Amino acid sequence: MNVYDSARMADVLRPLGYVPTDSPQDADMVILNTCHIREKAAEKVYSELGRLRPLKQVRQRRGNDRMLIAVAGCVAQAEGEEIVARAPHVDMVFGPQTYHRLPEMVARATRASGAVLDVEFPLEAKFDHLPDTATLRGPSAFLSIQEGCDRFCTFCVVPYTRGAEYSRDAAAIAAEARRFVAAGAREITLLGQNVNAWHGHGIDGSDWRLGRLIGYLAEIEGLRRIRYTTSHPRDVDADLIAAHGAVDKLMPYLHLPVQSGSDRILAAMNRQHSVADYRRTVDRLRAARPDVALSSDFIVGFPGETDADFAATLRLVSEVGFAGAYSFKFSARPGTPAALMDDIVPDPVKDERLQTLQQLLSAQEAAFHRSKEGQTLPVLFEGPGRKPGQIVGRSPWMQAVVVSASDRLVGDIVECRIVRIGTHSLHGEVAAADHESSLREVCA
Ligand code: SAM
Ligand code: SF4
Repeated sequence: MNVYDSARMADVLRPLGYVPTDSPQDADMVILNTCHIREKAAEKVYSELGRLRPLKQVRQRRGNDRMLIAVAGCVAQAEGEEIVARAPHVDMVFGPQTYHRLPEMVARATRASGAVLDVEFPLEAKFDHLPDTATLRGPSAFLSIQEGCDRFCTFCVVPYTRGAEYSRDAAAIAAEARRFVAAGAREITLLGQNVNAWHGHGIDGSDWRLGRLIGYLAEIEGLRRIRYTTSHPRDVDADLIAAHGAVDKLMPYLHLPVQSGSDRILAAMNRQHSVADYRRTVDRLRAARPDVALSSDFIVGFPGETDADFAATLRLVSEVGFAGAYSFKFSARPGTPAALMDDIVPDPVKDERLQTLQQLLSAQEAAFHRSKEGQTLPVLFEGPGRKPGQIVGRSPWMQAVVVSASDRLVGDIVECRIVRIGTHSLHGEVAAADHESSLREVCA
């Protein structure tokens, strides 16, 4: 979501004359768009700010040449005052819900000395004040449809930093999707902290949920793939499961975080579902779309997690089988209920559990990749590979596929035969270009 938000910030700033640059030393403004989800992510902000300080000083010494430094995102939201106190060279601090006000903040920061701080949850909806632009970084686009969260898992800062759950209207989402497709997007990933809690005003005036929205977006000509992330197991409803069976453009890969395989820990996390509920949901998804693959998030070392609880997580992983996963050590986040819980799991125990879990998950991921060897898969090419002459794309299951081929295929979906399985990617060769690219080749 920060990638999406950063692109939208660029859209807001473009009318003021700002364009993106890769080199901070040349920049008139540097925005750190931050994440507060775990302590490690938040710590990075202060070290980055330390690195930027001399760059700003060099610019100041040059006279009338000023570099504005901004901290945006969830660290800004949670630690606004502290950032201003610890890093006086910062000019603007604003949370994820106020970046549509950037022009006003820039004007104030340019005029005044001292930092401009805007970490409100404003009454006006940010999305209603963002420009109608479609900045694309390739054929795959992110589109935020939902933000914030009302679930209040006890470990999570999102309800405090992103705010209450908010769903955009279907018409606004569809209009943005069409703009992306017109600008060259072939794939759209619908985003939300709890994306399948999306419920909005539908095109026909009735209330829609995510399954219905996906069906509607699938009608957009030129859009070839739809994904959505991140989902909460409690919010997977019958319509969404049905969409997985009915909508070909909905890719057969679903990120469905479970966090733990122990009912006791799930209750302490306030996840509002049991292990059996999760397994039932997976069974129903697989019945609707037999080739669906799952990825998940796990937290190890949540307060009170015993060896038996952790063994239950390993059991769940073995039984479900995941094609990919993110796993983390529990990180106590200030202001969340879990940060005050007793029975803290010592760090070495967390380390050991994380290693054991990651070994199992990596083995499952490798087995999933191996299962594709020799198969022919449709690959959406996104850009150049690491080596000259290579291009890289994604399979329907989000696997990176590297092929030696012309970069004219970037943006096309091309049938590729998987000939070798690498550690982080699959290696393939073009089997057949799809209709779109064949036509282009003929025309060329
Ligand atoms: N909404 C998603 C869900 O309900 O599972 C999760 C979104 S959260 C932004 C991304 C992931 O970060 C979570 O699934 C969780 O595994 C991890 N996470 C969040 N808070 C954490 C914490 N305090 N310590 C460790 N990992 C955390
Ligand atoms: Fe955080 Fe996800 Fe729980 Fe919401 S549902 S509080 S985003 S972990």
